[in-house]
Order: sequence, then structure tokens, then C-alpha cells
Amino acid sequence: MLANKRGLGLLGGTFDPVHAGHLCLARAALSAIPLVRVELIPAGEPWQKSRISPGIHRLNMLRIAVEYEPLFRINTSELCRMGPSYTIETVKTLREEVGPAMPLVLILGIDQWLNLSTWKNWVELTDYVHIAYCSREGTVEKPIPDEQAAWAADKITSPQLLTQTAAGHIARFEMAPHRASATEVRHTISKLSYAQAMKTLDGWLHPGVAQYIRSHGLYQTMPH
Ligand code: ATP
Repeated sequence: MLANKRGLGLLGGTFDPVHAGHLCLARAALSAIPLVRVELIPAGEPWQKSRISPGIHRLNMLRIAVEYEPLFRINTSELCRMGPSYTIETVKTLREEVGPAMPLVLILGIDQWLNLSTWKNWVELTDYVHIAYCSREGTVEKPIPDEQAAWAADKITSPQLLTQTAAGHIARFEMAPHRASATEVRHTISKLSYAQAMKTLDGWLHPGVAQYIRSHGLYQTMPH
């Protein structure tokens, strides 16, 4: 158990659909960082992705997946906002809501960390939140761009120390590798029968989420 749990974890994503990789990442963050809970934030219109499922389906699947997870909460702020889901807008709004003292920790898989310098106003993120990133099975860990490395250099700390302040630091944490990816879930369902797909994806989807996908015919006709 980590002492003095006081921060809020923020895990944004498309969640199209939510899978075990997301939940393992959130659980790993809870064990590595002194967080009271993790807020899962489904993107409204992810500006770097096209052809995503309607927000209501992604939200319903998330609700099923975390129904019995007391340390996870769904935050619908991006789904409720018009226009592209820029993380900088989300963290600014959250900071206004929680006040200046509450530690906020943006949780990223390393694929997103490596991509960070393409995000809108990315250098300002640490004015509002800490960033904690985690290794991801299957992602080749190339060096981050020079500009990002220079920006991060004096912000690096350990995950345990992140919540001693409200924002401004960066830490890496580890999770047991999990191969799940939403792209692979969608491709598998689009090319196999439902029964075969579920066998192939064994353990990646919450049974209730798998049932939801089946009853709404998601991912079956249109490869994403
Ligand atoms: P897609 O395949 O559609 O791009 P995804 O599986 O990467 O989707 P997202 O909803 O885009 O899922 O991811 C949300 C966050 O979860 C990102 O920071 C991503 O890096 C992280 N993540 C997703 N799957 C894993 C995994 N298996 N291991 C570690 N991190 C993960």
C-alpha cells in the first residue's frame, strides 16, 4: 500500500473498445503512484483518429467494464464538449474544478509519450498536471524528440514522489506487459465469426463488453 494517497489519475483514450490493457495500465498506476482513484476519460472527437464508434457505445462499454471497480471513475467531460478532444483543454478545465492543490497525474502508455510533441500546446501540460508514462508491449521505445527531452529533463522524478506537488513533474512506471490493443480487437472481430473472435481475444474483453459488442453488431462489418 502506498502511503498518503492524494492524487487523481487521469487516463484518456478512445476506448473503442475498452480492453484489459487499459485496465491493467490503470491498476499499475494505482500501485505505483499514490492516487486515490483513476478517472477514465473517453475522447469525444479524437483529433488524431478517424472512424471511431459513437461516443455512447464507447461510454456504455466503459460503464460495463468498471461497474465493480471502486477505484475507477468515468469522466465524461470530453464526450460532453463540442469539437476536437485536446488534452490541454481537458486538464485546464479539471484544474479549475479541483483547485490548485490537488495533485493531478496524466497517465499515458509509452506510445502516447513518444507522440506527445505532436499534441496541441503540449509544453503547457505540466502547468496543470504531472505526467506518468508506462511501457507498452509491442511499442518500440525510440528516443523522444530533442525538444521534448530538453523540456522533460528537469521535471523527471519517481512515481512515488509525483503527488507531493500538484503538477509539473514527469515519471515513468512499469506494468506487467499486456498485448491488448483496440485496433487488434476491432480487426479480429471484423474478420472472424463472433465465437472465433472471442476465442482469439480470450481475456482481452470484459464478458459484458464482449456481449455488448455482439448485441450492437459493433466492428463486424466495417474494419477500423
Ligand atoms: P487503438 O488501437 O484504437 O489506437 P488503444 O488500444 O491504443 O487504441 P487507446 O484508447 O487509444 O487504446 O489508449 C488509451 C491509453 O491506454 C493510451 O495512453 C495507450 O497508450 C494506453 N494503452 C492501451 N493499451 C495498452 C496496453 N496494452 N498496455 C499499456 N498501455 C496501453
